[in-house]
Parts: sequence; C-alpha cells; structure tokens
Amino acid sequence: MLIVKKFGGTSVADKERIMNVANRCIKDYKAGHDVVVVLSAMGKQTDVLIDMAKDINPQPGKRELDMLLTTGEQTSVALMAMAMSYLGVPAVSLNAFQVAMHTTSAYGNARIKRIDTERIRNELDLKKIVIVTGFQGINKYDDYTTLGRGGSDTTAVALAAALHADACEIYTDVDGVYTADPRIVKNARKMKEITYDEMLDLATLGAGVLHNRSVEMAKKYNVQLVVRSSLNESEGTVVKEDVKVERMLVSGVAADKNVTRLSLIGLKDKPGIAFKVFDLLAKANINVDMILQSIGRYETKDISFTIPRDSFDEAYKVLNDNKASIGAEEISYNNKVAKVSIVGAGMMSNPGVAAKMFETLYNSNININMISTSEIRVTVLINEQDTDKAMNAVHDAFGLAD
Ligand code: ADP
Ligand code: ASP
Ligand code: MG
Repeated sequence: MLIVKKFGGTSVADKERIMNVANRCIKDYKAGHDVVVVLSAMGKQTDVLIDMAKDINPQPGKRELDMLLTTGEQTSVALMAMAMSYLGVPAVSLNAFQVAMHTTSAYGNARIKRIDTERIRNELDLKKIVIVTGFQGINKYDDYTTLGRGGSDTTAVALAAALHADACEIYTDVDGVYTADPRIVKNARKMKEITYDEMLDLATLGAGVLHNRSVEMAKKYNVQLVVRSSLNESEGTVVKEDVKVERMLVSGVAADKNVTRLSLIGLKDKPGIAFKVFDLLAKANINVDMILQSIGRYETKDISFTIPRDSFDEAYKVLNDNKASIGAEEISYNNKVAKVSIVGAGMMSNPGVAAKMFETLYNSNININMISTSEIRVTVLINEQDTDKAMNAVHDAFGLAD
C-alpha cells in the first residue's frame, strides 16, 4: 500500500512532536507500506516569517516573500528525515524543486499544475520514507511559489492523486472535522463522514481544518481523505463523495474573520459601472465575495462588497486611484466584520432555513450587514466581535450539538 500522510504545524511544533510523527510514520513503514510524508512549517513559523518580512518592508514583494516562506517547510522536512534516520529508518527529504512540483506563477497563491513522480518513486524503490515540503511549488521562471495559507493539505492531496496512493491521511491538532470549530463552539460534534461538496463549502467559508483547494482536488481525482489527530488514535473523519448517514438540514457552521467590507457610494446609475469596478479588482487578482448593489435613487447608486482582509490595502489603492473614472463620491470600508455561514445539502428543499438563522441572530441581538445564499448555504456578514456568539447560537438552533 502507498500511504500519503500529512502533518500540520502543531503536529511538528517541537522535538517531541517531531519524534512522535516520525514514530507514527515508521509504524506504517515497518508494516510494509510505502510512506510519503508531507509536512507544514513547525508551529507558527510561517507567521513568524511573515512578521519578519513586514518588519523589514511593510509590503514585501510576493516573490521574495515566497522565497522566505518556503524555508519554513524545508526546516521541518530536513529535521524529520534526521529524526527517522536517528530511529534507524532510511528517509529522504525533498523540496518542491527536487520533486519537482510545478505550479502556476502566481506567487502566494499558486495552483499545482503537474507533479513529477519519478524521483519520489525512485526513493520509495530504495525503501526510504519520502518526506516532502508542503505548501510550496516552482513556477516556469524556476522560482519558488506558495499555494496560499494552509496549502500543505493541497500538496498532500495532489501527491496522493499523482502517485495513485491507496490512502491520504491529514493529521492535525483536532480529532477530525466537527460541526463547527471546536475551539469556538465547545459542544461541536465530530462527524464520522462528510461529502466533498459540504466539506468544500465549509472550508471555503472559513473552516480552516482543510485548505479548500485540497477538497476541490480530492473530489476531482476521487481521493478519499481521512482527517484525524496526530496526538491520539481516535478515528477521525472521512471525506468522500457519498455518505451513508442521513443528511441533516444543516451539517455545519463556519466563520471567516479574514473579511473587509468596502462600499462605493454615489456611483452613477448607468450601465457599465459594476463592470468597471470588478474588472479593476479582478485585474489586481483580488477575490470579491458578497456583492450588494442598492437600487438607484436620484441617478446614483451604491455598491458594497467583501474581500479578504489581507487584500484590503491593494483593493483600496486600486479603487482610490480610479475613483474619478469609476465616478464614486466616496469609498467607505469596515475591517471589523466577519462572515458566519451555515452549510448543508439538506437545506435545498427546506425554505425555512435562512429565516431560522436570521431569527436566531435577532434573538441574540446580532445585526446582519449583508446576506448571501446558495442552494446549500446561507452566509451573513456581521460585526467581528459577534462572531463566536453567532456561531454558538446558530449551532444550537439547528440542533448540531453533541
Ligand atoms: P494544521 O496546522 O494541522 O493544518 P490548522 O490550524 O490548519 O491545522 O487546522 C486545524 C484547526 O482548524 C483546528 O485547530 C480548529 O481550530 C480549526 N477548525 C475550524 N473549523 C473546524 C471544523 N469544522 N472542524 C475541526 N476543526 C476546525
Ligand atoms: N505553513 C503554511 C501555513 O502556515 C502551510 C500550511 O500550514 O499548510 O499556511
Ligand atoms: Mg492547515
């Protein structure tokens, strides 16, 4: 059997944890399996590196930032190989170049295009455990790229797909996927199974337990995932196409605090304005999420939308530089907002779900700034300070508690 095992930052945060991971991998190796390990940077090392960069230059170039961030994962894979060899098992660490892991050229947000498997196969044939850096790739300029925060999950799934692995296990610091972040909602329930689609929505809407692209890729290549703890033997959650358990109305609650609301006030109420605004943002590679346009009055209208908070500086600059050509009287923003969402395939045929969520928020005295819905989710934009209260209230209202 070929097994891909991915361990996140907390799971390799110090010497003891590295040894623990090494031992877990060695157990599979000694059982006769081929083992490919994907690691994140140790602990909060990626944040530390970002802070170091910003201390030198508040707006570091994206290429250089990726050059810096890739050192985090290189540290952990090298130390892991040393740990395994200390424990008497041959192991080799490989970075994105050595693999090679080809991506698009978008620094900080690259997508995996192709993985060469020859080197990994050769090392496995030599009976070594192969340890690969998560989160990083190389582009056509022979530069390092990174896959976006949390991207090591995607490296693991991509490797599992490319190597036709028999199992892909994502080890983290919680026991699996819960109905809500168990750190915020204390009575959240661990799910035995979840579908790719529901997991994809939860991940995209802020459930950081899996990188959303990893779920997208797992679905595309039909890679079954198991999310489980690196610190205990508990069973974890299986992410797959179809689940046996009866679908709940709502399967989970997610929150995302990486959000800013921007509003363009007093735009001319004529064709082409929305196109101009969102074209400018698209060209700057800024993801726009919720969009709200007011009805035109006195020949003007307002457009509000949300973007990732870490794109705010860039977005504001683009809009402000083009304020005259878009014809906006004023640009306002709010950095202290958050999105709270409910997700569930079961809500498709149940029209009362959104209303119940709004009623719950009203009963908790939480004001809703914006709303967006799809067939299987409802998202509200609220004040950031209300996030945890909203998550708990909504989680309880839909009966998701343990
Ligand atoms: P890793 O470093 O292992 O990749 P992450 O911090 O990226 O770990 O992801 C694990 C964290 O995801 C958990 O500690 C938990 O706080 C958070 N999380 C958010 N939503 C969920 C959820 N629905 N189920 C489980 N964990 C969640
Ligand atoms: N180290 C990277 C991050 O912190 C990638 C990952 O952990 O998945 O975002
Ligand atoms: Mg992660």
